[in-house]
Amino acid sequence: MVMHAPEGTRDLLPDEALFWEEFKRTAAEVFGRCGYVPLDTPIIEQTELFVRGIGEATDVVGKEMFTAISGANLATLLEGGSIKNKSRLSLRPEGTAGVVRAVVQHDLVPQGAPPAKLMYAGPMFRAERPQRGRQRQFNQVGIECLGTDDPTVDAEAIIMLMRFYATMGMPADAMRLLVNSMGCEACRPAYRDAVRAYMEQHAEGLCEDCHRRMETNPLRAFDCKNEGCAAVMAGAPKITDHLCEDCQAHYGQVKALLDGAGVSYHEDAALVRGLDYYTRTVFEVQVDNGKRSQSAIGGGGRYDKLAEEVGGRPTPGFGFALGYERTMLALQEAGVEFPAARRCDAFVACVDDAARPQAFAVVEQLREAGIKADMDHQHRSLKSQFKLADKLGARSVAVLGPDELAAGVANLRNMATHEERRVALSALAGELAVERSEN
Ligand SMILES: [Zn+2]
Ligand SMILES: [Zn+2]
Repeated sequence: MVMHAPEGTRDLLPDEALFWEEFKRTAAEVFGRCGYVPLDTPIIEQTELFVRGIGEATDVVGKEMFTAISGANLATLLEGGSIKNKSRLSLRPEGTAGVVRAVVQHDLVPQGAPPAKLMYAGPMFRAERPQRGRQRQFNQVGIECLGTDDPTVDAEAIIMLMRFYATMGMPADAMRLLVNSMGCEACRPAYRDAVRAYMEQHAEGLCEDCHRRMETNPLRAFDCKNEGCAAVMAGAPKITDHLCEDCQAHYGQVKALLDGAGVSYHEDAALVRGLDYYTRTVFEVQVDNGKRSQSAIGGGGRYDKLAEEVGGRPTPGFGFALGYERTMLALQEAGVEFPAARRCDAFVACVDDAARPQAFAVVEQLREAGIKADMDHQHRSLKSQFKLADKLGARSVAVLGPDELAAGVANLRNMATHEERRVALSALAGELAVERSEN
């Protein structure tokens, strides 16, 4: 029986794995210009971290986490014993909680220190029903900035994300940037009560899930996919009418900075994001997914209370994540093409087997000189070596036969122009390096 990868997971085959590397490199370059440096946290964390950080009432933690019990305790569990909290581990459903945990654990933002600007890239896991652009294991790139609540951090990060999409070739008119403010602990409770009261008045138009949300977290009803709920919620009180003075000023400054940078955005009072920890700025980048609806390719926001939730001192933060798979789908739908990565610059072909030891030595010299070089490993004919060189994307093929070896040269063919010339073996690496830089 042929074994398959688990449902909702996917192999990144070499062409795509190379592209994922390129994607991460571009992100590191664009975000690095704003001072972001990498931080790698474990893929598993204590379940408790996500329960406290993300919130038990969210779908992510309530329904979609892969949770495991570390091996030694399985026997205890089967014997009816209790499981220590420390033994309950979950695969990370998102990146923020782990980064904030690491910042608190290692005290990366001591009193008076500049903010920590951190970025990560890697797989996240959600046990939901797989569908297009939604997998159980998916890749994300994200940033977190901890240690200040200054609006410049919010604006800088949003601009930086839009710059990343532009660098990847995403047309500006294919994206929509939505922004909103979620308020703070001073103004949000009253707003939440106002939304709950509104929902109670319109309860007959709401789905069963939203009836539950009305009790646990009424703001989540803005995210409901049910059309009836969306219609009801469109008339709900708007957070922007309920912001306290500080939140209003903060939101105003973020917008002014975006305006100043020439970044266009839409204010969307219904944008509340799926996670409990957001305060003040939230934003999302959407693309048209071709079925009359919009889908998010990235987004995030401010979380000024999260560090305290995981046991740290008050440390305001801001972060976003972008989905690799969804961004790729969006780029493809926008008609952006990705050339397959070139696997070989120079191919060394042998006229006969007697030339192979010398060819092997030449290939290694080229590699030492920094050139992507390769040769045939299967004793192919000269003709099929040329086919292979073409398939690998080689720009040049250096042919070695008895005559060439006797003269200490290679017959160098340019694969684009088919032009051929003799080059001394000692000069080959230099010639190829020049050719490469001219292309
Ligand atoms: Zn407020
Ligand atoms: Zn609903």
